[in-house]
Amino acid sequence: MLEVRGFVKRFGSRTVLDHLDAVVDEGRVTALVGPNGSGKSTLLKALWGEAPADSGKLLWRGEPFDARSTAWKRQVGAVPDDDALIEGLSIGGHFALCGGLSGLSPATVEDRSERLVRLFALEDAMATTRMADEASRGNRKRLACALALLGEPELLLMDEPFSGLDAERAAALTSILRALASRGLTILLSCHDDGITRRVADRFLLLRDGKAVTGQIGELPRGPATVPDTEDLLPWLG
Ligand code: ADP
Ligand code: MG
Repeated sequence: MLEVRGFVKRFGSRTVLDHLDAVVDEGRVTALVGPNGSGKSTLLKALWGEAPADSGKLLWRGEPFDARSTAWKRQVGAVPDDDALIEGLSIGGHFALCGGLSGLSPATVEDRSERLVRLFALEDAMATTRMADEASRGNRKRLACALALLGEPELLLMDEPFSGLDAERAAALTSILRALASRGLTILLSCHDDGITRRVADRFLLLRDGKAVTGQIGELPRGPATVPDTEDLLPWLG
C-alpha cells in the first residue's frame, strides 16, 4: 500500500495539494482523475521525487520513504507527461542509458529491451526514427512506458500514458496494464479520458480542491455535462 499523509504543495500563494491524504492499493490500477490544474501531475512528480511536496509524509508498505532516494527511484517506474526523452539519443540509446542507471548488465538490457519493443510495438519506430525525440507523440509515450518497465518496478506512476495513442494502441496499453496489475504491480496513472479510465482502472483517486476522494471505479462520479452555449458566446459565427 502506498500512503500519502498530509501532503501540502504550494506554488506562490496557490495551494494545489492541501493536506492531502490518500491510499493506493497494491496490485490494482488506480486512476488519478480531476479537472485540468487539479494537481495530478504535481502529485505524481512528488511521488517519483522530481518535485517534493512542501510538507507531508509518504509510506510504502507501512515504511516512510524519501521519494528522492535512489532506493525509491529503483522501486518505481515513472512515465512523465512530457515523456522526458533525451534530445539526440536513439530509442536503443534510451534503453541502454536507463538500463545502466538501473544497474542492469548490457545483456539483460538487450534481452529486456527486445521484449519491450515487441510488447509496445516499437519496431517500426526503431527502424524509421533516428532520435527518440523525433518520434510521434504516441511512439514517444509508448517508449516512455517501455522504459518504465525495464527495471523491476513494484509501483508504476504514469502521467497521462494514454495521451497521443490511437484507439488500437490505447486498447493494447489497457490490456498490458491490466495484466501487470494482475501480476501484482501497483499502478497509479492519470487519465483524462473517461471511457479509458473506466476500462483500465479498478479504483479512482479524484483530486478536488486539493483533497482526495477515493473509491471503486464504478463509483466514479460522471462529470457534469456543462456545455457552453455557442450561440451566446460566439454570436459572430453562423
Ligand atoms: P493537472 O496535472 O491536474 O492538470 P498540475 O499538477 O499540472 O495539474 O497543476 C496544478 C496546478 O499547479 C496548476 O494550477 C498549475 O498551474 C500549478 N503548477 C504546476 N506546476 C507549477 C510550477 N512549476 N510553478 C507554478 N505553478 C505550477
Ligand atoms: Mg497533468
